[in-house]
Amino acid sequence: MERIHAGHAPQLLPTGPHPLMPVAQLYARDVPDMTCPQDADLLQVLWCPFDDAIEGCSEAVQVRWRRAADVTDILVAAPEPAYIGNDDLIPTPCVVHPEQVREYPSADELEEELWRRLYRWEDEIGLSYRGDLSGAPGWKVGGWAAPFTFREPDEEDERRCPTCQAPTSPLLTVPSGEWDGESGSWRPAGDEPEADAPPYPGNVNPTQVTVSRGYTLQFYGCTSDPRHLPVTVMQ
Ligand SMILES: [Zn+2]
Repeated sequence: MERIHAGHAPQLLPTGPHPLMPVAQLYARDVPDMTCPQDADLLQVLWCPFDDAIEGCSEAVQVRWRRAADVTDILVAAPEPAYIGNDDLIPTPCVVHPEQVREYPSADELEEELWRRLYRWEDEIGLSYRGDLSGAPGWKVGGWAAPFTFREPDEEDERRCPTCQAPTSPLLTVPSGEWDGESGSWRPAGDEPEADAPPYPGNVNPTQVTVSRGYTLQFYGCTSDPRHLPVTVMQ
């Protein structure tokens, strides 16, 4: 028992840099709202699957803009790290079927008078602004900043590009599921709701990625130079 509680001896772990894990690969032809740099039509997102590494801005989370025509020498198997921090950060490989949707900004982004009017209006029409109209759930490109669900945003603008201080904009959102009880009206047609039961993965979370305690990790890209390291914020 003592050995179990002591954990794995760090000196026995392999040393040296870890390969980053592929997270998403998106082609401009499939995602028309993705704003690519002029000479790129492919976005590759990679991260180091450790809880304390995926948030903030560091080499542990990277976006690579490439030209799809240049990607010719494809590895059969992606290199794997010798060990990982959290297997909830290893996506189950799956293909994406992007759908263009219109979402409205979260209530946090609106003037108080406007969201008060919205809340009165949603009572009249029987829709939830938060669940049905703002912040579409699921993996997505672009859109609005996700609402903060478990803390207030930093007073300093934590979403500025640390490299050049330019503003950033939402690039990719990695949630912990495609919809939940409140946002079920966004469920794609054909994806039947399912009980929380095997077989996994199901439609609710086909990637099997869970961010921390079921949060959302949003990637913000630099508006001045999209090749700067992204800022990631857990929301
Ligand atoms: Zn920048």
